[in-house]
Amino acid sequence: MSIKSGGFSASVNAMYDRAVGLMDLGPGLVEKIRVCNATYTVRFGVRLRGSIHTFTGYRSVHSEHMEPVKGGIRYSLAVHQDEVEALAALMTYKCALVETPFGGSKGGLCIDPNAWEPHELEMITRRFAYELIKRDLINPAQNVPAPDMGTGEREMAWISDQYQRMNTTDINGRACVTGKPPHAGGIAGRVEATGRGVQYALQEFFRHPEDIKAAGLSGSLDGKRVIVQGLGNVGYHAASFLAAEDGAKITGVIERDGAVHNEEGLDVDALRAHIRTTGGVANFAGGHYERDGTKLLVAECDILIPAALEGVIHADNAANVKAPLIIEAANGPVTAEANEILLQKGCVIIPDLYANAGGVTVSYFEWVKNLSHIRFGRMQRRAEEARHHVLVNELERLSTNKSVPWTLSDDFKRNYLRGAGELELVRSGLDDTMRAAYGAMRDVWHGREDVPDLRTAGFIVSIGRIAASYQAKGL
Ligand code: GLU
Repeated sequence: MSIKSGGFSASVNAMYDRAVGLMDLGPGLVEKIRVCNATYTVRFGVRLRGSIHTFTGYRSVHSEHMEPVKGGIRYSLAVHQDEVEALAALMTYKCALVETPFGGSKGGLCIDPNAWEPHELEMITRRFAYELIKRDLINPAQNVPAPDMGTGEREMAWISDQYQRMNTTDINGRACVTGKPPHAGGIAGRVEATGRGVQYALQEFFRHPEDIKAAGLSGSLDGKRVIVQGLGNVGYHAASFLAAEDGAKITGVIERDGAVHNEEGLDVDALRAHIRTTGGVANFAGGHYERDGTKLLVAECDILIPAALEGVIHADNAANVKAPLIIEAANGPVTAEANEILLQKGCVIIPDLYANAGGVTVSYFEWVKNLSHIRFGRMQRRAEEARHHVLVNELERLSTNKSVPWTLSDDFKRNYLRGAGELELVRSGLDDTMRAAYGAMRDVWHGREDVPDLRTAGFIVSIGRIAASYQAKGL
């Protein structure tokens, strides 16, 4: 069950209100930051399969305290204005928390992307983009979309091309959208960035014994039982990184047609391949199938990762959730009411505005790369390698002279001398961002008696920065 129309914004606003209630902002500014500045609705026709089909799309701008504004474009039949506005608001708070210099925006198109052939989707996407570009709702300096549910690299490449056709003299045209494929101005590591960010967020959480204890857990990520709701781009990457690199066990996966469960751990790649070929998780050989997937949302585990839609944990099921730690890989998966219930139970929630910020963080790197017209690391790499050579040569000299009792392995030399490529730089930039944002949130969480949870702390950090920006430049 997801949030009904009209409920998602109310839920985000309730979380916002809880935080501003603990801050000292004037009521005028509180209202100014809360409201969505504007939502543009477009209805356009495309001639397909012999007749004209009319589509409805939205682009919402929540806050322009920094420009461009930033946020994905969602393709789903469930898209509606309130959803887009709530998602745009979350983008504002998310960008401020991870210090990507953007305001918040979001777009959506009411469409079932699976109902159309690729060439038809291209026509629809280009037409939608045309409508938004005409109104500066796609523009490298003003509004920069990115992928979201139902869209990916392919759609971003069409949007980018459409913008460049309509703005042939804009030398920064490629920066009009992020999440593009590598050969169309994209950046290494963007596809998996949100999932990678979820992994880095959990790694950071598990570096703090006090926080682990607050969730009633102990030890490290190694061996932790994880249930993932939604094995899409975000859920899949988070799950596969956590299993392959941190030793976590993915004990459950919930999908549209039910759930699979295996206490020994599921093979996430095999399950993803199974979903791709059969359309669902039913009949997957590596686990026990449960038709009612919602049962697994309330099953025993250490970490629950809702990674799909908003509102999956709500007032009616929150009390039954057993996970002591929830990390919101999706936007808004826990409603405001459910949030209160979970906090009462002592559950620790790593909130969406932090947990899924990996996507927009790497989008920021891509936008900077497009504006600078140079690949990350291109100018530094050789210089860095030369410095590494100096060190390796010296170490080799010492070991040959027997001044030190060891020799350098070929593996060490190869890895060390290679220098950092774009992917390594993107990853380290993302890791650094996730650590810094967690630190800012955590200082408020532990530093103030009146701040009960990470979400409120995250909102306080974020709203404080937005308010400072409005105060500095005026409204
Ligand atoms: N759609 C993603 C999100 O919700 C990415 C947004 C972006 O990269 O601009 O954060």
